[in-house]
Amino acid sequence: MDYDVIVIGGGHAGIEACLATSRIGFKTLLVTQNIDAIGRLSCNPAIGGLAKGNIVREVDALGGEMAHLIDNTMIQYRILNRRRGPAVQSPRAQADKFAYHMRAKHTLELQSNLSIFMDTVVDLMIDHDKNIINGVITERGHKISSKTVVLTTGTFMEGKIFIGQYDAPCGRLGEIAAIGLGTALRKHGFTLGRMKTGTPARVRRSSIDFSNLELQPGDDPMMPFSFDYETIDRPSIPCYITWTNEKTHSIIKKYMHLSPLYGGKIVGKGPRYCPSIEDKVVRFPDRERHQIFIEPEGAESEEMYLNGLSSSLPEFVQNEFMRTLEGLENVEVMRPAYAVEYDYMDPLQLLPSLETIKISGLFVAGQTNGTSGYEEAACQGLMAGINAAQKLKGEDSIVLSRAESYTGVLIDDLVTKGTKEPYRMFTSRAEYRLNMRHDSCDQRLTELGHKVGLQSEEKLERLKDKLQKIESVKELLKQNSYNQKNALQALKMPEVEIDEMMEKIPDLSLYSEPIRYQTQIDVKYEGYVLKQDKEVKRFASLESIRIADDFDYDSVSGMSTEGIEKCKQIRPRSIGQASRISGLRTTDVAVLMVHVKKWRSNK
Ligand SMILES: Cc1cc2nc3c(=O)[nH]c(=O)nc-3n(C[C@H](O)[C@H](O)[C@H](O)COP(=O)(O)OP(=O)(O)OC[C@H]3O[C@@H](n4cnc5c(N)ncnc54)[C@H](O)[C@@H]3O)c2cc1C
Repeated sequence: MDYDVIVIGGGHAGIEACLATSRIGFKTLLVTQNIDAIGRLSCNPAIGGLAKGNIVREVDALGGEMAHLIDNTMIQYRILNRRRGPAVQSPRAQADKFAYHMRAKHTLELQSNLSIFMDTVVDLMIDHDKNIINGVITERGHKISSKTVVLTTGTFMEGKIFIGQYDAPCGRLGEIAAIGLGTALRKHGFTLGRMKTGTPARVRRSSIDFSNLELQPGDDPMMPFSFDYETIDRPSIPCYITWTNEKTHSIIKKYMHLSPLYGGKIVGKGPRYCPSIEDKVVRFPDRERHQIFIEPEGAESEEMYLNGLSSSLPEFVQNEFMRTLEGLENVEVMRPAYAVEYDYMDPLQLLPSLETIKISGLFVAGQTNGTSGYEEAACQGLMAGINAAQKLKGEDSIVLSRAESYTGVLIDDLVTKGTKEPYRMFTSRAEYRLNMRHDSCDQRLTELGHKVGLQSEEKLERLKDKLQKIESVKELLKQNSYNQKNALQALKMPEVEIDEMMEKIPDLSLYSEPIRYQTQIDVKYEGYVLKQDKEVKRFASLESIRIADDFDYDSVSGMSTEGIEKCKQIRPRSIGQASRISGLRTTDVAVLMVHVKKWRSNK
């Protein structure tokens, strides 16, 4: 074999996958169409946001790279939902998109066990008798063998971009699509579909009149995503806010028939939660205006990103409607808005390890699985990489629970329910979000990162030290009083802040600000978390009833034929997962549970 692992695609999923397997010690090859596009931010030059920021920190705690990349390249930082509780707060940062990509590329170049090769994969080498992967075939005719393959094709597999009546085979504007692999995967028996997404225009900074626009500064200081850094010392670049108006909407309505989406040229389903401006005008006819953020693309770039104005209307229409917005009266477009349609794989064909059910050793991650977003891609890439390594080691796959991480929720949703439209993560998708705060990702996942070989002993020790310090602060509070109360009890009051106690309890200053803040969150949330723990225990009891890989569903009497077929297709890992399969009756789950327990006791 040439390699242990081949990763196809150097996007956000591919970066995490190839770093994970090479860092764990496996000989890895990244094959990507264009090495100058590794880690390119296709759309919004920003990482994080509600729930997504938590995912970045989960990736970091497990030993992934995304948090390091953004920490080293951010040009603005904000905590979202600052006035609400920590359970729904999340960090978001504007990236210098050029620096982000360069940093990603260089990180990969410096990584031992990892080779990078510029070519396009057009087919997979599969042994259909044994149902195993053997490697890849590239456009230039290379046949490269490997024990495992991780597929992360993003928006490039049979990608096609649309601007009005113009269309071209591209994965992004100016970047050629990966043609051939989609057809090959269908030929190998996989189910693929079409999805679409869109991006707004990039315009020239000097053509914008900022004088009447609302300024949106970042938080000061910037805070790191990674648990490896304490501070970030870099100047922040502001964003600006403008609004669409009735004139904008009437131009869009007037030319709607020229939209490839409404004219029927695009068949793929788009992201409901990231709609184009055409979608917004159609879906919310009563809204008089929509907010548009004007965001810098980089510290040394004149390009500005018009967040909220994604469109696939012809360029003359884009120019006309953009110039109705305050500040954009004389705007000069550098790159037009466009939509892209691409092939995705139905994720119901995957096990929770992200390995395909059909072909052993073939893993799929990122936008290829029907998701949308850099963070959603990164966490899948990391888990696919970890599980490719687990397979090579002959060890059990690692499946994160819905109760411990957004990554777990995302993968469980994909492989259990599938998705018919681009899947994006939201806090509301997570039942146990109090447990999934961004501040506590390290407490939940560092140990697992260490177990799989991605986190060092030193990081584990650092975490232990942090937890000990938090306990010491709690002890210190317990031994002191504040406002005629025990200080630990007093801190539970919503209006009391730990730092205001420092005058009365001077020893608190022996601990760093992050330790004091973490203690405060732990103390304030303790009651809620304990309550949630009871629910988590109930949830975990069904998750712990594992269904053996070779469990014979046809032997289950009393289960509906439809239920048996669904289980045979999805291959749930546990009774808990089976209970979440859409349309599986409660009675089917109850019957299945009896048989699974019997099967286990007979083994
Ligand atoms: C126009 C546009 C608009 C978007 N809008 C949004 C949005 O509004 N919100 C949002 O959250 N996300 C949006 N995204 C999606 C975001 O870019 C992706 O979610 C994210 O980049 C996915 O990461 P990925 O690693 O799965 O794929 P990508 O970042 O697309 O990377 C895939 C990589 O694989 C390479 N590749 C593909 N096929 C092959 C092959 N056969 N052989 C070799 N290399 C291959 C490609 O060249 C590319 O480098 C948008 C993307 C585009 C293009």
